[in-house]
Amino acid sequence: MSDPETERRLHGEGATPLAGVGRVVWYRPETTVDLPDEPAEIDHDTEVERFHEARDTARVELERERETARERVGEAEADVFGAHVQFLTDPQIEEGVEAAIGNGLPAPHAVREAFAGPIEQFESMEGRTAERADDLRDVRDRLLRLLTGTERVDLRSLPEGSVVFAERLTPSDTAQLDPAVVAGFVTATGGRTSHAAIFARSLALPAVVGVGDGLYDVDEGAEVVVDGDAGTVVVNPTAATRAGVGGGVDAPVRAEAVETADGKPVEVAANVGRPVEVDAAVERGADGVGLYRSEFLFVDRASPPSEDEQYDAYREALDAFPSGRVVVRTLDVGGDKPVPYLDLPEEENPFLGDRGIRRSLGVDADLFETQLRALLRAAADGAGDLAVMLPLVSTVEEVRATRARLDEVAADLADAGVAHADPEFGVMIETPAAVFVGPDLAREVDFFSIGTNDLAQYVMAAARGNERVAELRDFRQPAVLRAVRETVRAAEGEDCWVGMCGEMAGDPALTELLLGLGLDELSMSAVTVPAVKQRVAAVDTAAASELAAAVAGASTRAEAIDRLEGGVDDGS
Ligand code: PEP
Ligand code: MG
Repeated sequence: MSDPETERRLHGEGATPLAGVGRVVWYRPETTVDLPDEPAEIDHDTEVERFHEARDTARVELERERETARERVGEAEADVFGAHVQFLTDPQIEEGVEAAIGNGLPAPHAVREAFAGPIEQFESMEGRTAERADDLRDVRDRLLRLLTGTERVDLRSLPEGSVVFAERLTPSDTAQLDPAVVAGFVTATGGRTSHAAIFARSLALPAVVGVGDGLYDVDEGAEVVVDGDAGTVVVNPTAATRAGVGGGVDAPVRAEAVETADGKPVEVAANVGRPVEVDAAVERGADGVGLYRSEFLFVDRASPPSEDEQYDAYREALDAFPSGRVVVRTLDVGGDKPVPYLDLPEEENPFLGDRGIRRSLGVDADLFETQLRALLRAAADGAGDLAVMLPLVSTVEEVRATRARLDEVAADLADAGVAHADPEFGVMIETPAAVFVGPDLAREVDFFSIGTNDLAQYVMAAARGNERVAELRDFRQPAVLRAVRETVRAAEGEDCWVGMCGEMAGDPALTELLLGLGLDELSMSAVTVPAVKQRVAAVDTAAASELAAAVAGASTRAEAIDRLEGGVDDGS
């Protein structure tokens, strides 16, 4: 029974805050299939014809898969297959293949050659644009499979409890995974914003991406724990590790609002990125949406969503929470969030560059106006309460300038006789500057929402995607805890509630601390809502305040952790 091998861990990026345990099934798609040797002579017309036939079949397949993805994952996610059709029918690719055939290559070789340049081009770019290389590979491999008659590995009929291991998973691969059967997946490449990761969240599948070459040392059939929360893969887990799997995320769902044991109401909301995630938020008992990452409406498409498309998306969320609140964050691009058609400039340090509200008040002013129109209209019509929130604020001027834009947009709508309303207006606190000018900001807005993902990276000067500085940007660093404490203090005495929508809010182990620090609202991935609601109901606010004073007063991270885990005694 006992496994002869010892437990070991691989690290990557968690795609979903869920954990699963199962056995490794290696998925090695046809990319690795050797192409037949080039024949000395080819019949030019036959090869061109073969290519066209493969392309027609690929198109039919893609349309079918688009339907499956639409049913299983959602409308927005299915759009990626539209992008694949575009790549498939791209005249440049067609010309490339035909030119290569003209140079004497058979169709499969010509396809490989024609895709090589564009794939390399995407790979050399940054962030999400680089991930488009995966889409191109997906299209290329589909054509190669059809041209070489290679059988496709069927991800739909995997044994129960499979954990799929792969170099990478394409959107079409991921959409085939059935969450009722598959325990999770792990990829060597990819990041949190890759399609595979986005689909994993929508399917509520435990997943870790970007593990690197260490993945290839894990054998088929090995038992593994996929911890999408911690971003780790535990190979040959001990009984104790296995027993700890899923802790925190399988609490009972409570649809009703919660209050602490001594009666303080606390809003527990969900973070969503796409319309389909709104359903998951309702199912998990969220009170509303505390962070609607509206930039997700702008990615994976060829042009920005129209005012009406945005209006529909915001309305859908509002209607899902008729007695709740939906906080829509305005477009937050730049940094790690590129949108290909916006043509973001190359910046030496994009995290400190033109991103978030800076772009909305600058180069993206027109897009911003469209978004504000959609928001003000949705605020009038939706069943629930809409709130508008600004990303990456660092000055009072940014807030005032946006307020002025909102007033102009409202006046235009009024002139045109279009129904609109004045939504709640707030800012994310995710820069040290916003913390320092917190008292001034609190006088300008209705609420703060602390974005600890960015706040921790900027306070600690430790990039959020860089594993080597993970300990530095730990939320239990005294500097991060004090930034949170100061933010709450800044709002005291003002008509300004304070929430948190960074990942820190979704950790049930920190719920008591956060309530003790004085937060009114916590917003997180839908999967952790039940566990956090359970914790909230058990908190006594007086004890929580004592705990928070001790933990935020610690001089070191280790001391903060000790105090957090050991109770209130601060030992001083
Ligand atoms: C944050 O920075 O904490 C946040 C919630 O925003 P995002 O993760 O989208 O940058
Ligand atoms: Mg942020």
